[in-house]
Amino acid sequence: MQNATSLKDFLTQKLPAALEVLRQMVGMNSFTANRDGVNRLGRFTAECFAPLGFTAETVPSVSPEYGNHLVLTRPGRSGRSIAMVSHLDTVFPPEEEVRNHFEWHPEGDLIYGPGTHDIKGGTAMIWLVLHALREVAPAVFEAMTWKLFWNSSEETLSHDFGDVCRHRFEGGTLAALVFESEGRLGGERLMVVARKGRGTWRITVDGRGAHAGSRHRHGANAILQLGQTLQRIATLTDYERDLTFNVATVSGGTVLNRVPHEAVAEGEFRAFTPEACARAKAALLAVAGAGDVRSPADRFPCSVRVEMLSESRPWPRNAETDRLAALWQQAGADLAMPVGVEQRGGLSDGNLLWDAVPTLDGLGPWGDNDHCSERSADGSKVPEFVEVTSFVPKAALNTVAILKLAEAK
Ligand SMILES: [Zn+2]
Repeated sequence: MQNATSLKDFLTQKLPAALEVLRQMVGMNSFTANRDGVNRLGRFTAECFAPLGFTAETVPSVSPEYGNHLVLTRPGRSGRSIAMVSHLDTVFPPEEEVRNHFEWHPEGDLIYGPGTHDIKGGTAMIWLVLHALREVAPAVFEAMTWKLFWNSSEETLSHDFGDVCRHRFEGGTLAALVFESEGRLGGERLMVVARKGRGTWRITVDGRGAHAGSRHRHGANAILQLGQTLQRIATLTDYERDLTFNVATVSGGTVLNRVPHEAVAEGEFRAFTPEACARAKAALLAVAGAGDVRSPADRFPCSVRVEMLSESRPWPRNAETDRLAALWQQAGADLAMPVGVEQRGGLSDGNLLWDAVPTLDGLGPWGDNDHCSERSADGSKVPEFVEVTSFVPKAALNTVAILKLAEAK
């Protein structure tokens, strides 16, 4: 490999083309539910990578309302493969982009716009890194089989994408590299080595309705019971163990002269290990049954039902991921760039892949305010942006680390 200076020179020279790719991608609305927009972005993405020798496969989502997943492959001869993972969708409906004038908007070192950071900037990073690999290490680039995966609906946590990837990973897959945003701690760039799992739930309390004037003593107040049950759920949060329960929505009752017969709440829990998630779920299910709130007249009890709405498994800290992170830290040392690791609360496609092949996340550029489209006049609220000057150093880091991975036995 040539030295670090010529790598950075190459990346600097290539950056305007990468930003042009990004500009065009940001201009295509790809809200998860905008099926046509997601598919249009998928076609454009395939075109962008075709000159590098990639051929495209589209895989329909299990949900007919979502666009196609995209898989690009460039076969090599070595029997070894590296997977790179991004997603096509964003959280911004077209009307919201128009309403908030949220579009491609460079300002100094920042570029604002939908998906600039989450995650079209990550896709531009993949494009940049593959060009750099072809330039500085053509033999490695040719020998490796490169597989690139885009989830059409990552923002809705659709699990089918995990199977799309896992069925296409080859025996010699060295890593799944996820290009979600980088973390920062002071001057340190943080790679993501673990992510929390998440369970979402609904609690439904059935009480007994009664006339609030004449039959008050016969009522079993579902809202009072729900309040008690939610207090109990709140105490399940355990910061020491990184376990959180969030009571997120609540509703109940109908009219003011009626003791409410039903009340409903929904929420989620998150934790880093499968064991902690299993304990959290068991503790949650244990609140089901007859409640303490009863009708004063005849002790009719409210009853509490618990439903799990969804379960996303955690990506726990593990040795294979740590081995990859160590390569990125060595590459950082080579480039005089401090690199650390973090465990993140939010989910990514890494949660679906880590136990199939070694997985590392956080390889995208730096930016902030993901999932925000609003700007306030006083500047206290600004929308999602990516930092332009984070691209070249991060692409250099990813390139050097991937070469280390390719050379490792
Ligand atoms: Zn994302």
